[in-house]
Amino acid sequence: MKSFPQLSPENLEDLKVKAQQWSLANGLVMYPPDFQTFNVSNAPITLFPTPIPKTAFEQAQSIQKTYNELYSKIVGDKKWLIDEIKQLSQFDPEFTGKLFEIYNKVNEQGNFQSLSLGIFRSDYMLHDGKDIKQIEFNTVSVSFGGLSPKINELHTYLNDSGSYDNDYSYQYYDTEEIPVSSSIKKIAEGISKGNYYYNDESDNAKTVILFIVQPNERNSFDQRHIEYELLKTHKLKSYRLTLEEIIENTTINGDKLYIKKTMDEVSVVYYRSGYGPGDYPNENCWDARFQLENNKAIKCPSIITQLSGTKKIQQILTEKSNLSKYMDQETVEEISKTFVKIYPMDDSPEGQIAKKLAFEQPENFVLKPQREGGGNNIYKEDIPGFLKTLDEKNWEAYILMELINPPVHKNTIIRNNDIFNNDIISELGIFGSIVFDETNGDIKYNEYSGWLLRSKLATSNEGGVAAGFGCVDGIYLY
Ligand code: ADP
Ligand code: MG
Repeated sequence: MKSFPQLSPENLEDLKVKAQQWSLANGLVMYPPDFQTFNVSNAPITLFPTPIPKTAFEQAQSIQKTYNELYSKIVGDKKWLIDEIKQLSQFDPEFTGKLFEIYNKVNEQGNFQSLSLGIFRSDYMLHDGKDIKQIEFNTVSVSFGGLSPKINELHTYLNDSGSYDNDYSYQYYDTEEIPVSSSIKKIAEGISKGNYYYNDESDNAKTVILFIVQPNERNSFDQRHIEYELLKTHKLKSYRLTLEEIIENTTINGDKLYIKKTMDEVSVVYYRSGYGPGDYPNENCWDARFQLENNKAIKCPSIITQLSGTKKIQQILTEKSNLSKYMDQETVEEISKTFVKIYPMDDSPEGQIAKKLAFEQPENFVLKPQREGGGNNIYKEDIPGFLKTLDEKNWEAYILMELINPPVHKNTIIRNNDIFNNDIISELGIFGSIVFDETNGDIKYNEYSGWLLRSKLATSNEGGVAAGFGCVDGIYLY
């Protein structure tokens, strides 16, 4: 394994400016807090790619289609998934409960699109330096597929321009050692397949994609890269609306969804919002979700696919007997290799063990609620105190997960104008796209869709880039 390039302070400063300017020139950017639309800042990044073993990278990539298929199968099967969601709704009536209510209402009214589009991301850390272990499987609003290829191209530029060489201007890494993610291309392709199947298997570019976005989204460039690719390669136009804007700006005619102003017909509703209670500050936003669901546009994801990505379902799937219903034994073993132990916090025998472990050795665990988007988990020593603030009957809404112990590397992070040379740990995300029929799990399209590496300070528990805990990184394969 090569060590990180060692640069003099002058060369490092020069590298920083090169990285900043390349990023601004090529859209490796985010909005700063309290921005106006013309303000932009560099996305937090590493200056160098972080080493990842080739075998682990290939394993994570090769298993993605199996994961896509697994989630399509459990959504297609529905029986126990619906039962679980019913139960989760009781613990979380204000969010899961309301989503489930909309799901039921749409089903009753019959304006239901049975085809479903998933743009997924499976997140891993390296355990003991070599094996990939899954952190979580995301089924809604996965981000950074747009910025990931950009940082890879930045690292390639710095490498090719000789900026990683302290003395001369040699390439420091071989070109194949620092791969570029295909996630912009492949995520856009996945969305275009939603459009294709909406239009009875024809590439109709008259229908449009509707991005559902958060108000004041700081990560909009990540989304724009996907939008631009949709237009450039697939000739598909996109609109961006917040949940708050839906009722006023869309209309349903027959069973189809239209943009009111232009009467463009929407083929795919692509949610980059709507995954947490904060996205629904008032009833208008819940009405918006109902409006978006209650028509024939293909949803990315549908409510039931969104809810299949909750941590409780992830925990249930770590039991081999549950996996065996959906795949052969060999595949069960292969997928199980990517799991660490996840316990329920209920009255089952496993749950009893978990409740003891949570108090006796909390330092080995993270406690997770059914929430997405960062900042919700309870780590290590905070677990016992947190549990004591709850009624024991409510513990069931959480899962207890073994902590993965990833390798530490000393990379260099730039955040705004500051350079930090710090111990970091990295999380590898693998994107996947799938179009399937929710009524029977029948798969129309299933692809691996690129990757993402995010890194954070080794001392911080959480890794959200947008939330301010982490940065986007690239891979040096060894
Ligand atoms: P969210 O839905 O909020 O993204 P995650 O399950 O991804 O929740 O957890 C957030 C972060 O916490 C992860 O990005 C990772 O840095 C850390 N984390 C979560 N689970 C583990 C684990 N089992 N071991 C080590 N770190 C973890
Ligand atoms: Mg996560």
